[in-house]
Order: sequence, then structure tokens, then C-alpha cells
Amino acid sequence: MTTLPATRAEATFNGARADLRIDGARLWNTLMRLATIGATPKGGVCRLALTDLDRQGRDFFIAEARAAGCTIRVDAIGNIFARRPGRDDTLPPVMTGSHIDTQPTGGKFDGNYGVFAGIEVLRTFNDAGIVTDAPLEVAVWTNEEGSRFVPVMMGSGAFVGEFPLADLLLQRDRDGIAVGDALQAIGYAGPEPVGGRAPGAYFEAHIEQGPVLEANDTTIGVVTGALGQRWYDVVLTGMEAHAGPTPMSLRKDALLAASELVGVVNRVALEHAPHGRGTVGCLGVHPDSRNVIPGRVTMTVDLRAAADTVLSAMDAAFRVAADALAARSGISIDVRQVVYFPPQPFDDRLVASVRGGTRRLGLSEMDVISGAGHDAVYLARVAPTAMIFVPCKDGISHNEIEDAKPEHLEAGCNVLLHAMLDAATWTANTSGS
Ligand SMILES: [Zn+2]
Repeated sequence: MTTLPATRAEATFNGARADLRIDGARLWNTLMRLATIGATPKGGVCRLALTDLDRQGRDFFIAEARAAGCTIRVDAIGNIFARRPGRDDTLPPVMTGSHIDTQPTGGKFDGNYGVFAGIEVLRTFNDAGIVTDAPLEVAVWTNEEGSRFVPVMMGSGAFVGEFPLADLLLQRDRDGIAVGDALQAIGYAGPEPVGGRAPGAYFEAHIEQGPVLEANDTTIGVVTGALGQRWYDVVLTGMEAHAGPTPMSLRKDALLAASELVGVVNRVALEHAPHGRGTVGCLGVHPDSRNVIPGRVTMTVDLRAAADTVLSAMDAAFRVAADALAARSGISIDVRQVVYFPPQPFDDRLVASVRGGTRRLGLSEMDVISGAGHDAVYLARVAPTAMIFVPCKDGISHNEIEDAKPEHLEAGCNVLLHAMLDAATWTANTSGS
């Protein structure tokens, strides 16, 4: 890619389009209408991937996109693309999007915001009579949450070639229903091939799902990349024995060793500040009886870091400590890595565009790194990518009480608008040069 002189981007922003703004009330209203589909009594949303409620959400998206003049395409894993033509429709599209599936006790904004911020941007261009150089697309990615079907981020992962389509279609939920059958049942097994084309740029607006922006009283998180992740399944094996007759000195208590290992995970993360993270989320104690010394414990470990060298150092520190603990305690400790996502930096130029646009809009901003996975993290493997975070109340997400302020959603959508406008010009400028 060639680098565009800064003056051109400035000229775009300082021209007639500089005061272009989205309609925050219209965006909010759309999100509230979507939130009625699968609404829960506690004010959240339950719209699991590929259920009939998901179908209703998808139908709602398509109706809104068609009303904004878009053409619709659906691919074989159910990803939906709403397209607004550009002046040169042969250019790779400037794409934005996210997901509309939710956790079982999910909120109104996770994913939904990014999708309908995209629709709101298109409506704003329509109202202003703006034709962008490159075409624009809004994507709805299938099964981002991964709560009904694994893997998580299924649709975007398939789009970038991470998973073969045939394997995904055979994945089953707890009731034995396959992804392929669920797609057919809701009418979203589309005719388009999955992936095989790269957007010119990809943006995703999302609630932060963490407490940093709110704590810093900042409106926009300029996301510079996503943390890398290593997930492990760990099995500690000792010896079950009677809690009464077995003296303390003669025990092989797997839970005692596991409790030390929980401390190790925490210490390893703290020693790799500021971005190191370490979590034990699941613990299984066998035989789980009050008067039996635990003979076996299963646990999950989740390590995250911003740089791969740091993540590797954390992996090594964790394994060394586990080996030392095993030698000292006589408990065997089996550590198996089950997931590895390398840290994913976002595109410097798009990140700078988001940051510059935020400042010109007079909004407060800070650089952040996404601690969570997002569809954008996969898209970054095939296209220049950036994300825009807005605060959510108390940093809480994946919860029915998830909440965000209309003015923050509006601000993030305005940043998205100008970033997409800039990128649509860049794409045209750099293509063929
Ligand atoms: Zn999400």
C-alpha cells in the first residue's frame, strides 16, 4: 500500500464533509427496536446464533439495510453483507460490521452497536447525497459469541480462511443440531462463497466491555490491536484418601497444589504488567466429596499479553513454576495448550485516521488494546483494520445489565463515519497506483 500525503486527508475533512454528523437519536432508536427481539425480563437480550430469534434479528438488519438502499448478499456460513455502491464499484469495499448474536444473558449493545453504527453511517451519506469513491459494506458475522456453537468468531474466521467451511457446518450444539442444518432452518445458508475477497479496509465500532475508558472519563478508545491469548487445560493428579485417617504429611492433595497454581497464574500476569493477564476460570475437583482428599483437579488457564515475546515469556514462567510445584508436591501436573491467538496489531494508518478524526471531532481519546476477541481481530489478517471503542457502564458486558450512553454511541459512530469516508478516498487513491 502506498502512503497518502496527509494534506489530502486533511482536505477531505476540512472540506464540505467536515461537519457531517450521524443522527444519534436514529441510531439509538434502531438499537432499541433490535433489542426487542429476544428481550429478557431483566432488560437484556438472548438471541443465540442461528435460532429463530437470530433469524428475526437478521431479517430486521436486512430490512433496515434495504431501506438505506443497500443490496444484500449472504454467504454459505450465513455472513450477511449489505453493500452501498461506490463511484468505482470495482474497488475493494471499505467494510464495517460486527455481530448480532448474543450471550444467553447478553446485552443490547455488544456487537449490535457495531452493525447498526455501520447502517447509520450509510443513512448519513444518503441524507447528504455523498457518493464515496470505494463501495461501502456493512457485515453481520455469524456466531461471534460461540455460546451455542464453537468456535467463537465463526463467520469472520471462516471469511479469512481460518476454518474450513465443511468442518464448521458439522459443528453441533448441545442438542445435537448442526450448524449447516440450523442455517437451512432459518433460511440463511446463502449462495455466496465464504471469503476469497479482502476488503480495502475494515472498521469495527464496539463497546469497550471493560472499565478503562469510563475510569479515565474518556469517550473514544483508539484500539491499537488485540492481546494475544494462550489457553490451557491443566490436570493435577494426586491420591484420593480418607480425610480422617490420612496424616497431613502423607497426603497427595491435588486441590492444595491447584490452589498454589492459581497463585502462580496470578503472579505471572502481575510480573508482565501492564498488559499481562492471567485467569483460572474453571476448577473441577474429584471426587468432590467433603471427607475425601481430592485426588484429581482439572482447571483452565487463560494467559494474555500484548506482545508475542511477553506471551511466550509468560508461557515459559507458568510451565517452569508448574514443573517446580509438581516436583515439590509429588502431584503430577499435565499442562496442555488448547488455544493460541497471536497478538494482533491493527493497521497504523487506519489507527492514525481514527485518532485524528476523534481529535478533530473534539472528542477525548486514549489508545487502548482490546483484551477480548472480536471479528476485527480475524479481519486484520486479510485487510487493514482498526477498531473504535466507546465506554459501557461500569465496564460490564456479557450481562443483561450491560448499558451505554446514547451520546457515547453517537460519538463513536461519528468517528466511524469520518474514518470510513477517509478510507474510501484512500482506497481509490492507492488502488492501481
Ligand atoms: Zn462483541
